[in-house]
Amino acid sequence: MHHTMTYEPLPILTIGDSRLEKAAALVRPGDATLTQEIGQMHAILNEFRRCQGYGRTIAAPQVGIGKRLVAMNLGMGPFALLNPEITWRSEEMFEVWDDCLSIPNQIVRVRRHKSISFSYWDDQWCERTCEQLPPDLSELVQHEIDHLDGILMLARAWGADAIRPVAEHARLIIANRPNRQSSLAQFERMPES
Ligand SMILES: [Zn+2]
Repeated sequence: MHHTMTYEPLPILTIGDSRLEKAAALVRPGDATLTQEIGQMHAILNEFRRCQGYGRTIAAPQVGIGKRLVAMNLGMGPFALLNPEITWRSEEMFEVWDDCLSIPNQIVRVRRHKSISFSYWDDQWCERTCEQLPPDLSELVQHEIDHLDGILMLARAWGADAIRPVAEHARLIIANRPNRQSSLAQFERMPES
């Protein structure tokens, strides 16, 4: 007989909560609560997207879990990043409007590296490397790793009038997003055998 686990969504912490400004700890193999936490984070992400119409990724500190863990769903199913680490940053920067589940009332113009490479472990503890991400994925991963370091997008505000009400989300963010969403798998480097 199969049991299907269901997870109650935890509340998403919002700006002002000091847990959002703490650096998170490395996830360790054998972590007994990890599977449950990943399930909870995906439940939260699904719930947020159902209510708000956006939200592709959430970092563990945003729900009060101080671990270097990120849940993502870019439209092709849920997956998790454990201990993600940027291994290369382009010199070239770009400006982009950013949103955040923990700052529900505002969007912010930030400056990010146009491309990065990064590595992480998946939920089976296989190490994966993604190289030279395009701008849409590059800024997304930089945003999430910032959460693991206790940095919110407001700290990256760039230029005049960089902080706007979320009412401008559709005009400034959705309208500028590529129609075709990239997936991390397209940029994954196969392990050497
Ligand atoms: Zn965020």
